[in-house]
Amino acid sequence: MQIHELTLVEATDMLERGELSAAEVINGLYDRIEAVEEKIKAFLEIDRERVLREAGTQVPVAIKDNICTRGWKTTCASRMLANFHPPYDATVVARLRRQGHAVLGKTNMDEFAMGSSTEYSAFYPTRNPWDTERVPGGSSGGSAAAVAAGEALVALGSDTGGSIRLPAAFCGVVGLKPTYGRVSRFGLVAYASSLDQIGPITRTVADCALALNWIAGHDPLDSTSLPEEAPDYRTFLRPDVKGLRVGLPREYFGEGLDSEVRDAVLAAVRQLEAGGAKVEEVSLPHTEYALAAYYLIAPAEASSNLARYDGVRYGLRAEGEDVVQLFSNTRSRGFGPEVKRRIMLGTYALSAGYYDAYYLNALRVRTLIRRDFDRVFEKVDVLACPTSPTVAFRLGEKTDDPMQMYLSDIYTVTVNLAGLPALSVPCALNSEGLPIGLQLIGPPLAEGRLLQVGYAYEEARGPFPRPRI
Ligand code: GLN
Repeated sequence: MQIHELTLVEATDMLERGELSAAEVINGLYDRIEAVEEKIKAFLEIDRERVLREAGTQVPVAIKDNICTRGWKTTCASRMLANFHPPYDATVVARLRRQGHAVLGKTNMDEFAMGSSTEYSAFYPTRNPWDTERVPGGSSGGSAAAVAAGEALVALGSDTGGSIRLPAAFCGVVGLKPTYGRVSRFGLVAYASSLDQIGPITRTVADCALALNWIAGHDPLDSTSLPEEAPDYRTFLRPDVKGLRVGLPREYFGEGLDSEVRDAVLAAVRQLEAGGAKVEEVSLPHTEYALAAYYLIAPAEASSNLARYDGVRYGLRAEGEDVVQLFSNTRSRGFGPEVKRRIMLGTYALSAGYYDAYYLNALRVRTLIRRDFDRVFEKVDVLACPTSPTVAFRLGEKTDDPMQMYLSDIYTVTVNLAGLPALSVPCALNSEGLPIGLQLIGPPLAEGRLLQVGYAYEEARGPFPRPRI
C-alpha cells in the first residue's frame, strides 16, 4: 500500500484503527514529495524532520502560504514577506493542530493570491501534474497540485474570486469555497476582505466534507464569522439527488466557453438527471457585469489592505533618504508587477472624483448579482455550470495579457461577490487528457447540500483517474 494513493478518509480511518501512525503518513507523503516535487514545485517550504517532531495523531495538512503558521514562514509568495515568521497561527491552523494535525508544508501561490495560474509567485511557478508544461491554475495552485500529485492528501487554499475552485478544476481535484463567514479568516493574510474565504482541496468529495468539519465554525477572532454552528458535513454524503432541482444558468454557457468543457459539464448534469434530479435552464442576468465589478472591488480592497507593507511594520525594508523614499523603495522592490497593477487600479477606483463612477457602481452591481442568485434559489436547489471556461493553459500563455488571465475567473467571481458556497468536482478529461471541473453553486450555508450533490455525482461518475508523474 502506498500512502499517497490513499484518500483522506481511508488514511483517517486507518489512523483511527491503529493500522497506521501519523509518522508513517508523514514519511509516506515526504517520500512522494522527494520523488515528484522537483517537477511540480507545489511547495515553498517543506521540512520532514519538523513535521515528524510535531506529528500529532492525524493526517497532516498542506497550508497555502498566505495562512499564518507559527514556526513556518508565511510569505504570500512575495518578496515583501520572504522572511516573515508570523508569531501566531491562523484560527484554521490552530484548530487543525488542536485536533491532532501537523502542518505538512507551505504551498506556492500567486503573490498575495492575485492571479489565476501561480505564475505570479515571486519565487517560481508551480506546474500542473497532468502536464508540466501547463499551469495548475491559481492562486492556490500549489495546494491543488500537491493534492493532485499525491504530495498531500488534503490542503487548504483561499478563494477570493476562484482561487480554490479554478486550480481544483485544472488539477482534477475537489475544491470547496465555503459561504462567506463559514470558516474563520483570522490569520489569513488579507487580499480583499469582503471576498476572501478559506476552504479545503482534496481528491474526493467525502474527503472534502471531512476536512470542512475540521475548519468550519464560529470564531470570535473574526468579526465576519457566522454564529451558526457547523453541522457534521459527513452526514450529507448520501448518493441521492431524487427530486433535487438543478438550475443551468444560461449566462455560464455562452461565448468563450470551450466546447469540450461545455459538453463535459452538460454530460455531468445529465448524470444527475438520470439519478432523479430535475434540470431546468435559469438566468442570472447581471452576470455579464460581474468580472468588471470584481476587478474594481478586489483591487480597491487590496490597495487598502496592502498599505500596511511600508517597510516599517512588516517584512521587507529598503532604506531611503527620508521616510517617503523608504516607503517607495520598499514597495517598489517588495511587490511584483501584478500586485502593483492591482494597487494602482484599486487606488484609482477609490480616488476622489472616480469613487462614484467606479467603486460605487461596482458595489451596486454586486447587489444586483446577489439578487439574481436570491431569485434563482427560490426556484432551484443548486446551480451547475463550468468552473472555468477552458482547461489548464500553457505556462506563459497569459502572463503578458492581464485581461486574458482575468477572463479565467469569469464563472467563479460571482460566487464571491454574492458570498455563496461553491464546489468544484472533476467531471472529465478532455481529448488532450486534461481535467475539466463541474461547479456546483448553492445558497448561503448550503455546503452540506453541495457535498451531497457532489458526492452523488462522484458515485455516478466512478473513480477519477490520477495524473501519471
Ligand atoms: N484570479 C482572481 C484574482 O486574481 C482570484 C484570486 C483569488 O481568488 N485569490 O483576483
